[in-house]
Amino acid sequence: MILVLCEVKDHHLKKASAEALSAAQFLAASLQVPIAAVFLGAEAQGHEEAQNYGAQFIFTCFSPALAAYSSDLYAHTLISLAQEKKAKVVLGAATALGKDVLPRVAAQLQGGYANEITEIVPGSGSFQVIRPIYAGKAWMTLGFGDRIAVLSTRPNLFALQVKNETAHRESVTVPSQDFKAVVKELMAKSTNKPDLTEANIIVSGGRGMKEGANFKLLEELAEALGGVVGASRAAVDAGWGLPHSMQVGQTGKVVSPTLYIACGISGAIQHLAGMSSSKYIVAINKDSEAPIFKVASYGIVGDLFDIVPALTSAARALKLNGG
Ligand SMILES: Cc1cc2nc3c(=O)[nH]c(=O)nc-3n(C[C@H](O)[C@H](O)[C@H](O)COP(=O)(O)OP(=O)(O)OC[C@H]3O[C@@H](n4cnc5c(N)ncnc54)[C@H](O)[C@@H]3O)c2cc1C
Repeated sequence: MILVLCEVKDHHLKKASAEALSAAQFLAASLQVPIAAVFLGAEAQGHEEAQNYGAQFIFTCFSPALAAYSSDLYAHTLISLAQEKKAKVVLGAATALGKDVLPRVAAQLQGGYANEITEIVPGSGSFQVIRPIYAGKAWMTLGFGDRIAVLSTRPNLFALQVKNETAHRESVTVPSQDFKAVVKELMAKSTNKPDLTEANIIVSGGRGMKEGANFKLLEELAEALGGVVGASRAAVDAGWGLPHSMQVGQTGKVVSPTLYIACGISGAIQHLAGMSSSKYIVAINKDSEAPIFKVASYGIVGDLFDIVPALTSAARALKLNGG
């Protein structure tokens, strides 16, 4: 069996989890085992959607203890489920939650762990996965032998595979155990914008933005395109009031949107590590030698303070014309 840790947001299955289920379909075909979607926590939504992406089983583990996120309890529940069902693979999306829980599951099950996989190489009775290493400079292919494989899929990379199933539902008991850390309260920042890691369009600014107030230009472009705003570490560290949650890169978020527009970002390797798997990269930089142009699908050499407002006007005009 393949267990897929499913996350729910605003009463719906997260797109990143639907992608993980879609990726699981390749593994299921290789291993000839069923896919089970695992829902932990108090949310009772998203199950129907999981069936649409190939889940043949739906395991729900609802208890008041799981209502607030706890890495220990989530990991422990997944581990006992994996043991009970003799799972061959535990899979999730490389979201903040997935990256927190899945390594614990791998360590305690003494399994193999691959984070942020970008590709699955199916085989007959086995499979391999590919993931970036050295900040995206190289790719590693991994196999797992007889060990249980614990994997996370990089969001926005696996195409959604619709495969309607009628899933068998099972409610799973949450194991009782005392943990050293207990979550007392969780305060979520309310925002109606998607998380950077799930955004389809990102407009990012770097040191070339000169000051925090100028990020308004990027907000306007992002709004016209239906995207969100990110930043380089130089911009976040500059004391311009940009939160670390906006940072893209090796020590920030890894993103794979369809469109990434880098404004006044030089393209240091640590920044590229977070965005080079974007489908289309547009770089705006006044230095024609800036390394960002090496990874850009489209490069615009010029002053961003002229170019960004022009792009915003063009995007607004297209929208007005129904484009
Ligand atoms: C361990 C480690 C981890 C790191 N992690 C990260 C990370 O997660 N994310 C990250 O981003 N960085 C990270 N860095 C930092 C990284 O090395 C770079 O310092 C940083 O990415 C540079 O940010 P930048 O491109 O905004 O600034 P700069 O390198 O200063 O580039 C600014 C660019 O703006 C252009 N520019 C200036 N004015 C204009 C204008 N008016 N119009 C158009 N272009 C203009 C310039 O030509 C230049 O190319 C890390 C570094 C280390 C050592």
